[in-house]
Amino acid sequence: MHPVTAAVIDDITASPSPYHAVQTAAARLQAAGFTEVDLTDAVPSGPSRGYAVLDGAIIAWLDPETVGPDTGFRIVGAHTDSPNLRVGAHPDVGSDGFRQVAIEVYGGVLANSWLDRDLGLSGRLVLADGSMPLVRIDEPWFRVPQLAIHLDREIRSDGLKLDPATHLTPVFGLGEPTEGALIDAAAEAAGVDAAEVRAWDLMFHDVQPPTVVGPDADLLASARIDNQVSCFAAIAALAAADPAELAATAVVVLSDHEEVGSASATGAGGALLEHLMERLSAAAGIDRPAHLQRLAGSVVVSADGAHATHPNYAARHRPEHPIRLNGGVVIKRNANQRYATDGRAEGFARRAIETAGVDAQIYIHRNDLPCGSTIGPITATRLGVPTVDLGVAQLGMHSARELCGTDDIADLAAVLGAAWTVD
Ligand code: ZN
Repeated sequence: MHPVTAAVIDDITASPSPYHAVQTAAARLQAAGFTEVDLTDAVPSGPSRGYAVLDGAIIAWLDPETVGPDTGFRIVGAHTDSPNLRVGAHPDVGSDGFRQVAIEVYGGVLANSWLDRDLGLSGRLVLADGSMPLVRIDEPWFRVPQLAIHLDREIRSDGLKLDPATHLTPVFGLGEPTEGALIDAAAEAAGVDAAEVRAWDLMFHDVQPPTVVGPDADLLASARIDNQVSCFAAIAALAAADPAELAATAVVVLSDHEEVGSASATGAGGALLEHLMERLSAAAGIDRPAHLQRLAGSVVVSADGAHATHPNYAARHRPEHPIRLNGGVVIKRNANQRYATDGRAEGFARRAIETAGVDAQIYIHRNDLPCGSTIGPITATRLGVPTVDLGVAQLGMHSARELCGTDDIADLAAVLGAAWTVD
């Protein structure tokens, strides 16, 4: 297996929740010599290499050898969250001899993809002392069973209809529901006393690991390709970056809550990134007007999944824009700014892509279908910085198990690395 494929499989497997994705990124950064700065501490002065964490978001930076008002920021953004089923605040429910877990649906899930899968549990607990241990249960303790076809006569004429209020509630074994049983299990998995648990953020994941598929081993089937493939590529590129070659301060921001609109303290709609960048400038002896001068010379690269042309639904795609798995990094454009890319930003991306020596594809959405969006337009709006949306082509976006090409992941990492060095 290609080492990049093996590494991305390791990272996705290690990251069933946004909190785990942040932990995974932090471990790779630490191994590359980045040190954590607590957001409530002062940022160390001088050119620096570091990262800061808030819940499901992480921001990392690497300065060139000298930093001044002429040093822009080149910001690579991606998101740590994926659509999934999350544990409700009063979780222990049941019906008809089954223990079950109350859920909330998070983001735009393809609900059918969660049926009949072996599910584990992950996230974090919040204890009485304020600590927040991560939780991970990879045993298949949960499952959303599909209704038998003999009991769903309309499925042939109307297709599968799923009511998220009732049809997606996982079973958690047999018997009567017991108040506290789920959190007791989570506390035991985390190795903490359940009596100390005051709150939690928990969610389900498919316990099946990522798989390389196809006779030529050129496809990757996995949960959370959107968008942990981009998280992986961004962190791998930053860990490999050389300050002597940087054309700007290299920044990676992995935000949470993209799948629900990014409006949160840890989402791309929040102030976390701009506040931290201003603190980085101040720590380098740069005042606010000079910091805004730095921003004026900055660029954002928003890395997120792109829709490949689906062989079974080719008519849903524009024929003049075929997008192929392993066909190269996809630049995404939308005249209505659902993607932030304009000609200026695309020009920058193409210089990075040429420098990286990889292929490019360009995506636009059909005019009669609603286009999705991503962190690109939100970050561009907050910062006032030209932004390009690009990423890895995939099928089944928002499925519990998506599909992408193995070669495209290394290509994306190469392009993100080049975005920090091109003129
Ligand atoms: Zn995404």
